[in-house]
Amino acid sequence: MAKLTNELSWSRTRMSTLKTCRRQYYYQYYQKWGGWGWDAPEESRQAYFFSKMTNLPMLVGHAVHETIKRVLTDLRDFNEVRLEDPGLYLRKNFLTKTWKDAEQELWRKSVKNHPPVFELYYQRQPSPAALKQMGANAAEAIATFLGSDFYIELMKDNKSDWLAVDPEPSFDESTKLKLKGRTIWALPDFARRKDGKCEIWDWKTGRKNEHDELQLLSYALYARDTWGFTPEDIRVFGYYLKNNEIVEYPCNGERMEFIEAEIDRNFETLQGLLTDIPGNVPKDKNEAFPMIEDLSTCDQCFYRQLCDR
Ligand code: SF4
Repeated sequence: MAKLTNELSWSRTRMSTLKTCRRQYYYQYYQKWGGWGWDAPEESRQAYFFSKMTNLPMLVGHAVHETIKRVLTDLRDFNEVRLEDPGLYLRKNFLTKTWKDAEQELWRKSVKNHPPVFELYYQRQPSPAALKQMGANAAEAIATFLGSDFYIELMKDNKSDWLAVDPEPSFDESTKLKLKGRTIWALPDFARRKDGKCEIWDWKTGRKNEHDELQLLSYALYARDTWGFTPEDIRVFGYYLKNNEIVEYPCNGERMEFIEAEIDRNFETLQGLLTDIPGNVPKDKNEAFPMIEDLSTCDQCFYRQLCDR
């Protein structure tokens, strides 16, 4: 197997982390690197541990995405949904399991398979009623999806028109999405051919935010370069399950130029934090990646123990 290297790449999450806090970015994209190895330095092991942490909103998002993925792969592969109770599947396999594993601190055995949960680790445990409500909200998001006109349409679709159902990231150089030779991480939740165009969908469990359009446009790049659609033949949608609202964001040649220029600017910023650009070697932690002063952000940060905040 080829040796993993820490290459400089672009993702919307990476840019959000950098915007939130440079020190957090350093922990997430540099200090943690190699921290999974038995002989890794202690500071890398610690950063790796916190990089695997999740919290309740993330857990809900993950559970909803995985359940929709299971429903759609069943539909695609068997033309029927074999899950008897998607709401129960979501709770049992993701929410309850992850929570209980974290309560038992199974992350001591494998942090990759049993992530620590922020609310437990930092003793912010919600009340049993709040936890129950969270489970109900997640199940409600699935019920919204399964009760939607869109889902009825999907059931009737010719499944050979489906281009992707929550694909796994590929680390194979030949299939990575590249822009000017640089790796871009952008994978849509769902894509299909519809009336000669490509539809890209992203399931949202949180509220709308300013980054959503950028994220969906990065998926449009994926559709253009992977399946060969022109920008005018790509449509991008966010499905906000909490409010059962579908938002279509504009996609055309101009918007694609915008996202490409934005990614170029982002790479310039990221490269400015390096002493060796081809080697992706960061500048000094204390000089280029300072901690922030806003303690309310630190209060929610997975790495707060490393910063003693
Ligand atoms: S605890 Fe605060 S300063 Fe430290 S990484 Fe997190 S957000 Fe940044």
